[in-house]
Amino acid sequence: MSNPLFDALFGIHAGKSTPFLRLANNQLISHQEFLALAARLANAVSQLGLAPGDRVAAQIEKSPEALALYAACVQAGLVFLPLNNAYTVDELAYFVEDSGAALLVCDSAKQSGLSTLASKLGTALETLNADGTGTLIDKANTQADEFNTAERSLNDLAALLYTSGTTGRSKGAMLTQDNLLSNAEVLVDDWRFTTNDVLIHALPIFHTHGLFVATNIALLAGSSIIFIPKFNLDQIISALPDATTMMGVPTFYTRLLNDERFTAELASHMRLFVSGSAPLLAETHKQFEERTGHRILERYGMTETNMNASNPYDGERRAGTVGFALPGVEIKITDSETGDPVPTGETGALEVRGRNVFSGYWQMPEKTAAELRENGFFITGDLAKFDEDGYIHIVGRDKDLIISGGFNIYPKEIELILDEQAGVLESAVIGVPHPDFGETAIGVVVAELGQTPELDHIMEGMKTSLASFKCPQKLIIMDELPRNTMGKVQKNILREQYKSLFT
Ligand code: AMP
Repeated sequence: MSNPLFDALFGIHAGKSTPFLRLANNQLISHQEFLALAARLANAVSQLGLAPGDRVAAQIEKSPEALALYAACVQAGLVFLPLNNAYTVDELAYFVEDSGAALLVCDSAKQSGLSTLASKLGTALETLNADGTGTLIDKANTQADEFNTAERSLNDLAALLYTSGTTGRSKGAMLTQDNLLSNAEVLVDDWRFTTNDVLIHALPIFHTHGLFVATNIALLAGSSIIFIPKFNLDQIISALPDATTMMGVPTFYTRLLNDERFTAELASHMRLFVSGSAPLLAETHKQFEERTGHRILERYGMTETNMNASNPYDGERRAGTVGFALPGVEIKITDSETGDPVPTGETGALEVRGRNVFSGYWQMPEKTAAELRENGFFITGDLAKFDEDGYIHIVGRDKDLIISGGFNIYPKEIELILDEQAGVLESAVIGVPHPDFGETAIGVVVAELGQTPELDHIMEGMKTSLASFKCPQKLIIMDELPRNTMGKVQKNILREQYKSLFT
């Protein structure tokens, strides 16, 4: 029997009593214990009548049992469909119905709200709570510690991850065993993970970053994980002296820098800090190096493609860039009208091809055809440019592009200028409806602690450095930018808030 993803990530650890997960209470879960838990869950789920290819939707808190459910799905050939914990019951209805999930696993607190939906759709409903209790665990507890691994091939689906979709309906990205395995192999190699590594894992496991990048790499390399349910400064600070690596979103790093306990001494056992899922401010990169001597390694990826690009492990990690295409991944930057590559330094649409790229959107052939070219290149929706040394700069999402009076405005260009102004911590530039220009740019600015940026002065300065059509028509101060759990600025919320500014 062969199941390449299971064999590579989990099977290799069979019989090992070495620690896999270290929990906040210092409890250790060995590889062997974890595999036994996964096997019991795989048996329990199979007894519910699920067969290879069926989808298992899970909206559950991060816990060892939740991670073991992912392993159980891989072992039983089921398609794992993790869901953001923030989704409401109404939102869940869409995901369960759209995916045709055969099983929905949720927290006990949501069970009664979901039971009508589950019976209407013929979906089995089980619970799994943050403390590792629940009906699914009760069922698993009576099962054997071994499971007959289901036969799977590299082209079979391993996971269905819905995109965060800030516009329109969320789409289910179909990820094959090969997509996940090839990317984990490349990253282990590129970032030099080994059995000696101890990874601080404080990311959610419903998202590609925490579930695939962090977990799959640690499993494949045989590293151990300090498993922290969610970002918690105290827990991270106490974990750092025992750890060698950490993966985080940019807010992890800004929050660490805001804490005086975070010193070079505390980070001295670490060999690598990785950042991704949202842009890391060049300023954060710089401050981090000044404080700790470490240069954060920024990488770039997305749900549909796994990881695409990374700054180099050896060599210059260039702040404000995402480095180069990973081995085996092709990246090109094209003119969105013609599809032809644009010259170095010019902004265009970032397209990517490789074993890491998903096989399409679940039951959405038209959306798939619109974004995944026949030649295998996926149009990511990100705008980017190559600098003269080949480093990739992400300039923003194409749907954030502002077209004012027929001219293109790339928000990032303006944000970089705003961020450099005295008293400005960070900024977001958005397009809002305008009676003359159709759309115009405005800048939302967050002040540095205790500072009051002089907006009129900043506006005057911008007029001399920028073409007039690019100058924001208005600057607004906000206490903080709206962000989702992955640290991404939610420009859709800002656009909604300021849509009537000029109309
Ligand atoms: P998700 O599918 O939730 O992982 O979101 C993927 C999107 O996050 C990408 O298409 C980018 O727009 C953004 N993203 C991820 N990593 C970075 C990065 N290092 N810098 C800038 N944007 C990023």
